[in-house]
Amino acid sequence: HNDANGAGQPKKHRINGAGPSTPQGSKAKAIAEQRQQLPIAKGRDALIEEIRKNDVTILLGETGSGKTTQVPQYILESGLAKNGMIAVTQPRKVAATSLAARVATEQNVPLGSLVGYAVRFDEKSSPETRIKYLTDGMIVRELMSDPLLSNYSVVIVDEAHERTLRTDLLIANLKKIQKARNNPSDPKGKGKAGLTNPLKIVIMSATLDAEKFSRFYHNAKILYVKGRQHPVKIYHCAESQLDYTDAAMRTFFQIHTDQPPGDVLIFLPGQEDIESLQKSIDLYAKQLPADKLEVLTCTMFAAQEHSQNNKAFLPTPPKTRKCILATNIAETSITIPGIKYVIDTGKCKEKQYLARVSGGGFDTLLTRDITKSSAMQRAGRAGREGKGVCFRLYTEDAFNGMALSAEPEILRCSLTASILNLKTLGQNLEELDLMDKPDSDSIASALKTLWLLGALDNHQKLTPDGRQMALFPLEPQYACAVVASKGYGCTSEVLDIVSVLSASSKLFIDISEQRDAVAEARRKFRHSYGDHLTVLNAVRAYREIAASENKHARREWCRKHFLNERTFLEARDIREQLVVTCNRVGIDATVSAKEDEDSIIKSIGHGLAGNSAFLQPDGSYKQTMGQTIVKVHPGSSLCDKKVPAIIYDELMYTNQIYARGVSSIPKSFFLSLSAFKQRKA
Ligand code: ADP
Ligand code: MG
Repeated sequence: HNDANGAGQPKKHRINGAGPSTPQGSKAKAIAEQRQQLPIAKGRDALIEEIRKNDVTILLGETGSGKTTQVPQYILESGLAKNGMIAVTQPRKVAATSLAARVATEQNVPLGSLVGYAVRFDEKSSPETRIKYLTDGMIVRELMSDPLLSNYSVVIVDEAHERTLRTDLLIANLKKIQKARNNPSDPKGKGKAGLTNPLKIVIMSATLDAEKFSRFYHNAKILYVKGRQHPVKIYHCAESQLDYTDAAMRTFFQIHTDQPPGDVLIFLPGQEDIESLQKSIDLYAKQLPADKLEVLTCTMFAAQEHSQNNKAFLPTPPKTRKCILATNIAETSITIPGIKYVIDTGKCKEKQYLARVSGGGFDTLLTRDITKSSAMQRAGRAGREGKGVCFRLYTEDAFNGMALSAEPEILRCSLTASILNLKTLGQNLEELDLMDKPDSDSIASALKTLWLLGALDNHQKLTPDGRQMALFPLEPQYACAVVASKGYGCTSEVLDIVSVLSASSKLFIDISEQRDAVAEARRKFRHSYGDHLTVLNAVRAYREIAASENKHARREWCRKHFLNERTFLEARDIREQLVVTCNRVGIDATVSAKEDEDSIIKSIGHGLAGNSAFLQPDGSYKQTMGQTIVKVHPGSSLCDKKVPAIIYDELMYTNQIYARGVSSIPKSFFLSLSAFKQRKA
């Protein structure tokens, strides 16, 4: 076949190019057919016409109808994005990377060429890239270097109904940017920036709350894609369940023994539940009589790597029932074909800012009840290809008592990182035209934290240090520690520590059945100063092993020491990115303090000054910035040792308030901090 490609878009049209006789060709043909059959395909021309006519389009459609994968391709193929890239934003990293991979396959191009992605600490794109999937956090970050998003001619805000903090900030900024770019008389628009490409905005959402978006964008037009939804029979429990993983397991095996073939999707709140339930199901399935269908379990959650998540999409082998255990990532972002049964635990994990804690609140991840709209989405996953069944592990009364939809994150999360980002854009959160405005308490608390970190001065103006902190793709606390490490000459060690703390899964694995073995293994890395230097010891030990041993020996070493190798590998990538940022802002990342542990802990202490507590005469720890008594988490290396002052990574609320990631720090350190001096004054 000759290259029949038009100019400008290399290696693209091969879907039709390769002959059907080759295996690759037939695969491409199958994919093309699959695309044709998606519900959205029929509306393609009308959709393109609307996007062409309007600055803002709001598109609603059922999960699985083809919005996320098809709309960007339609826009590309119709030539609507001639003067820039098409951005597709996602609240979750896994969704961004796996959808990009899927669309690259559909276009029959390698990932990172025509179709790419950008998520925190990981990017696959090139100058050829025309469709870019990114997290909402990444595009908000891009505003810092490109305030008008001039590289993009279309921005598709996907999963807008989730109302994450970053999506809300993006939606507000897009309104501003569009005004500037599409209105030539605006001083910040064409004239000044010299931009000739207007901006199109497409808002996509799975649920029926589009009016609010429409109103926000001057009554933008709302379009609907009808999905292919078959009836789903819903069963509720007669009584509430105490242990939802156990109930999920019993329900799964009931389906497996009583119901016709068809795959099962179980919704669980988080990774730990998923992994423990998978173990139980696998163990139990081995004991089934041989005449039954085999059970194949797959898992899907944010911290899991792409190739592992993608296993859920592979066709189910014959004589097998696939059982997918997933977080709410499978609720709308990712659609898995073949599901006939859904088991809904009714739980999810949600970030919640506990602002009511005196002396400044904190973010914590709580397992909580889902909303009605989530419950309906979850049930809907069973009816994509035929009639389905959903088993809710909660009562009908519980369902009726659920909130209709989740509260926007901006009303319930810490605003520290966002306010720092906005400050670099010269924006104040209070003044931004937002869909929902956060309350003044949480703004005040974030401003106070940033002031403590030295990112803002007494007049709430960004300091030079603050500007540097904002450039690091880190929580402001850790960015502050890296910036502080320059003065202490220990940047290399601080990078080792914060890159592990910024990875998506924990380094130390706790297995309750093997508590003694775990404690024994951990003792090897234990540092008397506490958890931060314990992490450093583990990183150093792994680095030594990695230098001399092969992959299998490394993995075995990690297993033996109850360390998560995935975290080490992710941390290594994160560290590389942080080194790039260090170079940019003039911090020498190679400077090492070697054994000078005081310097290392003080650098971390600058970041965590607000997360500190002093020992009281009665043996408890009281926050320095508030009145709350915190307990050292039992998993900490400092849990059975009293020291005069501690810093900690986070507070966790269960039945008590626990500090996690705890280190001892000299009390005198706090006297040297100007913020503390000013507070005392
Ligand atoms: P929507 O955004 O409307 O929920 P998507 O565009 O995400 O829909 O998905 C459309 C269809 O593409 C899904 O029904 C699913 O079957 C298919 N699909 C998406 N990702 C993959 C993948 N990685 N492998 C196989 N099929 C996929
Ligand atoms: Mg989608």
